[in-house]
Amino acid sequence: MQLTQKIRIMPTTEQECVLLDLSEKCRLIYNFALAERREAYTNGVDGITYIKQQNDLPKIKEEYPEYKIVNSKVLQYTLRMLDADYKSFYALKKKGDKDANSPKFKGKKYFTTMCFNQSGFSVKNSIVKLSHKHPSGVALMFSIPVKFSFSKIYQITIYKKDKDYYLSITHEQPEVMYEDNGLYQSFDLGIIKQTAVNMGGKFVEFANQRPDKYWEKAIAELQSRRDHCKKYSRRWHKLNKLHAKCKHKSANQMRDSQHKLSHKIVNNTKANTIIVGELSPKKMCQINKHQKGLHRSLQNTGSISRLTGFLTYKAKLVGKRVVEISEVNTSKICCVCGSKQDMPLSKRQYICDCGNDIDRDRNSSINIMLRYLSENGLWTSYWQFVSNLRQTGLAIVNHSQEAITSKPQGDLGYV
Ligand SMILES: [Zn+2]
Repeated sequence: MQLTQKIRIMPTTEQECVLLDLSEKCRLIYNFALAERREAYTNGVDGITYIKQQNDLPKIKEEYPEYKIVNSKVLQYTLRMLDADYKSFYALKKKGDKDANSPKFKGKKYFTTMCFNQSGFSVKNSIVKLSHKHPSGVALMFSIPVKFSFSKIYQITIYKKDKDYYLSITHEQPEVMYEDNGLYQSFDLGIIKQTAVNMGGKFVEFANQRPDKYWEKAIAELQSRRDHCKKYSRRWHKLNKLHAKCKHKSANQMRDSQHKLSHKIVNNTKANTIIVGELSPKKMCQINKHQKGLHRSLQNTGSISRLTGFLTYKAKLVGKRVVEISEVNTSKICCVCGSKQDMPLSKRQYICDCGNDIDRDRNSSINIMLRYLSENGLWTSYWQFVSNLRQTGLAIVNHSQEAITSKPQGDLGYV
């Protein structure tokens, strides 16, 4: 599996000068190539592709020898980035996005991300060396913490964010072979908490830390104060900077807590198969565009799908597997009798005519488990799970398989 590790580095003043020089050359190449594309577009000329621009590089270097100081792979990658920018722009435009902006020229202060793909770098004894031909001869060597050791490195990218420099190292990480150990754990991933049920019918709950909640108020306040100022005034800039900083912190803490949570989930279960409901945030947003109140909570679906991503890769590293299955109706169906009722998000308790009275997330985690086991024909485990649940007082009736495995039939029951 390929993973990317981000590491902060502290270049010396000399190294920073070299980096800025190299980045400047990349920026000029980017702008130059962009101008060429724009011109071709206005004149209706076709054929300015990445390949053509890449093939032109040697000619440019011949004419302007100062570009030779940059590793040629890095220059090529800069052109590739422009190509990617254009491709995403066209894709957005095709989708009918009116706000799509064509790639812009990079301004003077812009630090161009430099990417060393396959070659141009070496890593030895926790020292990363990036190659260049800058006349100053200053070596771009950065020491990285000893705890990072990489067996095989595909790519190293150097970039600047705010005032700090970072390396992002894409490397090969060995996986542990997955083996089905007959134990399963299903999760109902939510915004407030993650509810899991295992084969024994035991429930586990992982509360979400919500650092974003903590920051929400401060961010809103800063935004309102900023918007009351004259735009681009000194005070506006000050508040804008603070606002961005708080948002950044909130996002960082959120990601950090999700890393910790997913680590805990993956490592604290004996089950090798973790089943989660598959979310399609896009669909959810489309349906609920007119329901304003819901929209806020739906913004968080992005963070849930990120959690699924974290779970998936962390599981692979330890020989476990995360399976996503359709979540349709899992919270609407009664886990005991199989009947269906509407469950608006405000309803936290599932109360059914059959006498079932259960937390809504527990209900859906059971449904997810039942659906997975039946869809995969794991009947032994299915009945074992059902009988274990019976012992906890949930007398699951052999409800029609149809109800539990039903695929979406036109109705968009997402919750
Ligand atoms: Zn029921």
